[in-house]
Amino acid sequence: MSPNDEPAEHEPGADAATLTIDLDALGANWRRLRDASRDAACAAVVKANAYGTGLERAVPALAKAGCRTFFVAQVSEGRRLRHVARDAEVYVLDGLAPGGAGELIAANLRPVLNSAEEVREWVAACGGAGLPAALHVDTGMNRLGLPADEALRLKAEGAFDGLGEALLMTHLVSAEDPAAPINARQADAFRALAQAFAGWRTSFANSSGGFLPDAPPCDLARPGYSLYGGNPTPGRENPMRPVVRLEAVILQVRDVPAGATAGYGSHWTAPGPRRLATIALGYADGYPRAAGGTDAKTRAGVPAGVALVGGVRCPFSGVLSMDLTILDVTDAPAEAAVRGGRAVMIGDGLEIDEVGMRAGTIGYEILTGLGPRYRRVYVGDGAGTGAGTGSGTGAGGGG
Ligand SMILES: *Cc1c(COP(=O)(O)O)cnc(C)c1O
Repeated sequence: MSPNDEPAEHEPGADAATLTIDLDALGANWRRLRDASRDAACAAVVKANAYGTGLERAVPALAKAGCRTFFVAQVSEGRRLRHVARDAEVYVLDGLAPGGAGELIAANLRPVLNSAEEVREWVAACGGAGLPAALHVDTGMNRLGLPADEALRLKAEGAFDGLGEALLMTHLVSAEDPAAPINARQADAFRALAQAFAGWRTSFANSSGGFLPDAPPCDLARPGYSLYGGNPTPGRENPMRPVVRLEAVILQVRDVPAGATAGYGSHWTAPGPRRLATIALGYADGYPRAAGGTDAKTRAGVPAGVALVGGVRCPFSGVLSMDLTILDVTDAPAEAAVRGGRAVMIGDGLEIDEVGMRAGTIGYEILTGLGPRYRRVYVGDGAGTGAGTGSGTGAGGGG
């Protein structure tokens, strides 16, 4: 390539894995969460490229479903969002970087103010205009936000009087575990705060928080993960519709005798004669290498990755390579386990939560890692019910 050649735009070839994103399921999930929020409005958290699904496609679909308020992590994400949703309310969770108020104001973004310093800077930068913002009070995470006692003291001192329309929020530490004692402590702390900040809008629940039995009432729910099909109630049936389906191409199939090993480092040994299939998907695609299937994991009873070939769960044989993964397809239908066939990595009942668990991580990391090499196919527009879209997403197989 000569120095003047522009790099070719990414165009997936015949060996590319296909990532199908069902925008109607996304919209339906948002409407379900909105309905579950009763009197509260429902926002959508679309940070990290809408949890890997593609911000430019997810946001218009969510807007079509009725969503008006969005949360991103970073200012750059807010600017991207502005191109596809001119009038939406957009909050930036990272808040205000030193000297950063100007770029937020220019893009009509609302900071989630995380400290007294950020409040002072924002009020000063707004020059008496009182622009909208959120105030994040930390009730147990010790990550971002003002400590509750400091927020109450500042409130009494009138430190927030220069803010415009303001949203009081906190973030839950263990919402996915209803038995965690910290849930009640955070709920109690937030109830007290809401009383002290009477007249402010309030926002409490993330995906799982909306399903806690004794969550305090609030004005704005803030789900992310559940919108994209993640289970907000781990251990119980997933009330959400699957949004993401990932299918990889089988490049080669071979039969190996007992005792043969597979993959780098020979970490997997055939327990008998096995049929192996190599697929064109690896850790460079964002699928965690830790999902590999090794003899050590088998001995220890530790779960490892699986894919569906012809509807049958096929375990990973050996560690993932950068671009390739080996499956044990011995039990798959012979007509499915062939060169040019497909292995379903996510979907058809293989949920992102399980994929995360089998990789020693969580579904969130699986979603946000979805790689740039995939052929991305979007189905629906957020308004449809999606029933019978033909995407195959979660239809059947799930049981
Ligand atoms: C990411 C995030 C959310 C969304 O959480 P989910 O568990 O994905 O629903 C809500 N609030 C804050 C502050 C967050 O950082």
